[in-house]
Amino acid sequence: MPLDAAASLDTNLLLKALRPADRDLLRPHLEPVTYAKGATIFEAGAAVTHVTFPCDHAVATLLITTSDGRSAETATIGHEGAVGGVVSQGHVPASTHAVVQIAGPMLRIEAVILQDIKRHSPTVRDLFARYSDCLLAQVLQSSACNALHPIEQRCLRWLQTLHDRIGSPVLPITHELLAAMLGVQRTYLTRILRTLQDQGLIKVGRGRITVVDRQKMEAAACDCHARVREHYRTVLGAIYGEGGLERIEPHAARFTCTAAEPDGTARP
Ligand SMILES: [Zn+2]
Repeated sequence: MPLDAAASLDTNLLLKALRPADRDLLRPHLEPVTYAKGATIFEAGAAVTHVTFPCDHAVATLLITTSDGRSAETATIGHEGAVGGVVSQGHVPASTHAVVQIAGPMLRIEAVILQDIKRHSPTVRDLFARYSDCLLAQVLQSSACNALHPIEQRCLRWLQTLHDRIGSPVLPITHELLAAMLGVQRTYLTRILRTLQDQGLIKVGRGRITVVDRQKMEAAACDCHARVREHYRTVLGAIYGEGGLERIEPHAARFTCTAAEPDGTARP
């Protein structure tokens, strides 16, 4: 199904950051897809045929599942980025299970087509290289956080990540899903959430967790999320806008990258 609504490109920050000429290269190949909550975008081991861009409030998570059936989140990706095949040449097996955490519209493009476009456009290549660097930084920081920081702080890091991606204090997330993301038992997680609620950081409801005091939450959390956010701001902030990822506002995004034009000249 061809993409007939140009505005859809404005609901993902990576696509919105493209300059008009690059948008024109991608637009004919972008296909709208809608995934339900819990749907699989790709399984671990399966060929990643498409690069998928969550739009609006849609959020996907890359999960690692161990042989004993347990799982843990490695990266949470919303409308700031893309899922699958971002770095590869396309059609390589996925190392993670990509699952939809918050349902919503997405756009996707065949990985081999994107690769071809990157070959022809240095600015598209530069944008995706920068994004890949940020995604790697997020994964590396998560692995350090999981190894070094207590569950309360890991939980707060995850809630901040989701809060930034959907831009609403009401996070539509169940205890079961959050426990799976963090790789802990649900009953244990419920105790942790109660402690965070008693501290006035969050409010726990049925099927949702509300961020009550973001500032207080940041003060109580480890600095892992802040470090990743700062990296995004440094590497992609000029592209995404002054606010960087701190407050994701799709309509605030603008392209001010200083990437070289195909003829080698720099643009502001
Ligand atoms: Zn941490």
